[in-house]
Amino acid sequence: MNRRLPVPDVLRGLGVSPGNGAGPVLRLSGPPMLPAVMPAVADMGAELLRAADALDHVGAELETLAASSVDTAADVLSAQALMARDPVLADTVSEKVAGGTAAAWAVDEALREQQAVLASLGGYLAERAADLDDVRARAVAELLGVPMPGVPTSNEPFVLVADDLAPADTARLDPVLVRALVTERGGPTSHTAILARALGIPAVVGCRGALDLVDGTVVAVDGTVGSVAVVDAAEAAVVQSRADAVRRAQATLTGPGRTADGRGVKLLHNVGSAADLSGVDLVGDGASFEGVGLVRSEFLYLGRTVAPTPAEQENAYTALFAAAAGRKVVLRTLDAGADKPLPFLGLAAEANPALGIRGLRVARVQPEVLADQLGAVARAAKATEADVWVMAPMVSTVTEAADFADQVHGLGLAHAGAMVEVPSAALQAARLLEVVDFLSIGTNDLSQYTLAADRMAADLADLLDPWQPAVLQLIAMCAAAGRAVDKPVGVCGEAAGDPLLALVLVGMGVTSLSMSGALVPAVRVSLAGQTLAQCEALSGLALDAVDAVSARERVAASAAAGTRPADTATPEHG
Ligand code: PEP
Ligand code: MG
Repeated sequence: MNRRLPVPDVLRGLGVSPGNGAGPVLRLSGPPMLPAVMPAVADMGAELLRAADALDHVGAELETLAASSVDTAADVLSAQALMARDPVLADTVSEKVAGGTAAAWAVDEALREQQAVLASLGGYLAERAADLDDVRARAVAELLGVPMPGVPTSNEPFVLVADDLAPADTARLDPVLVRALVTERGGPTSHTAILARALGIPAVVGCRGALDLVDGTVVAVDGTVGSVAVVDAAEAAVVQSRADAVRRAQATLTGPGRTADGRGVKLLHNVGSAADLSGVDLVGDGASFEGVGLVRSEFLYLGRTVAPTPAEQENAYTALFAAAAGRKVVLRTLDAGADKPLPFLGLAAEANPALGIRGLRVARVQPEVLADQLGAVARAAKATEADVWVMAPMVSTVTEAADFADQVHGLGLAHAGAMVEVPSAALQAARLLEVVDFLSIGTNDLSQYTLAADRMAADLADLLDPWQPAVLQLIAMCAAAGRAVDKPVGVCGEAAGDPLLALVLVGMGVTSLSMSGALVPAVRVSLAGQTLAQCEALSGLALDAVDAVSARERVAASAAAGTRPADTATPEHG
């Protein structure tokens, strides 16, 4: 049942997990529908029990899934299991059942109410409201006795198409069978995006019209550029065999990041805690792990109503530094505010949180929070062998950076850096490098502030694209400033994990790329396929382009013409 789309034959969305995959479409089964008429509750006691059992069953099921998952997927599923087992939820459901509402309806209503509360809190918590969708769908399916929503079963490889994916769906994806993911909704920070990257499955989200693709339609998905093309079986076979060749190259090419002519570019990991390093092989493939380029230190503070004690912080950092086993670790100090609200700070509500007291600016009102954190980092660094670098988020002036660097150096830490996340920092890159030891460009925020587009707004994804020429120009300015004084300038936003954009960044003179660990192999292969001179030419093409789409297309075409086929890219190192 292979049909052509009415219009167009190519759908466009946001490429959030790079790579290609092709095959027949299979759509995810949707959430259960409550029947139009609610049955009367005949036996109140039994109904109360049924509701409690259903939530318990869903909690247990999510815990089992969490136990068989790793990293981000495990964290998300555990959090969902906790949501299902929330005593406040159980009480609300019981009250509704006691008031005469049938169990399935009571669960549905109670969870919708909780979602509305989360959504009204905004930022990170509003994003988590979507996690309750799946808890609700599962509990309602259980109570109605209908099949659980989720990934279809198939023995043949397929391209999974869905409105959006729940973490539990994503956690059960078999990367061998699921060649690509396409969702109608979702933005770059959705779980589908994060988990697809972690699993190494090419993915396109926010792809309008995807749900019109009926099961069996053969498509070729490009998770790097964000396209979904309806193709015939022969075209699909070509795309898939190229993708398989790239995968084979990724599995065999090890060692530090380098261009084809040997220019070293550190490929580092972005982590939220020591647990994110649990899958890193420090022994067998040790040379491939070059260190951590961004520790999002908020992990210790999320959901806290009081600050973690200095001793607690020191222990957590010591565990993290020890896990990095002597490699470089770049820790970002607390990045609170806007999309990362941290209740314990008790910051006043702001009309424009993204432009308010966030990141390093928190030190203006609560300097002790930064002082405590830096003290704990310095003690943990002394206790371990890791090469610890510290940087501040949301630096907007040279004075801020100088004060931060003085504080860091004063504690005996040798490397103090500034993140470049707002245009003022990029414009002042040369001056910043007079007072700090390195720069790290956070392209997620730099895109948001350069294009004045909220990073959580999926509808503005085209503006948030790091391929936007304005963003590229700011990055190029930073890289040039670093080259002039021979100080490191890295990129640690999502852009660093895009194998194509990585070439452009290296061509500009960026010295390290930090990304989710799952993306490192693809970037390593991409770099190994181009010389530094080719990367420089690619960055010229990107900087000259009039918009993000043409920048990406020009670079993709030129890189494909210049690269050695992945199958023949023999490991030169490692
Ligand atoms: C960024 O802004 O690019 C960045 C790396 O920080 P975060 O995504 O945590 O804001
Ligand atoms: Mg940021």
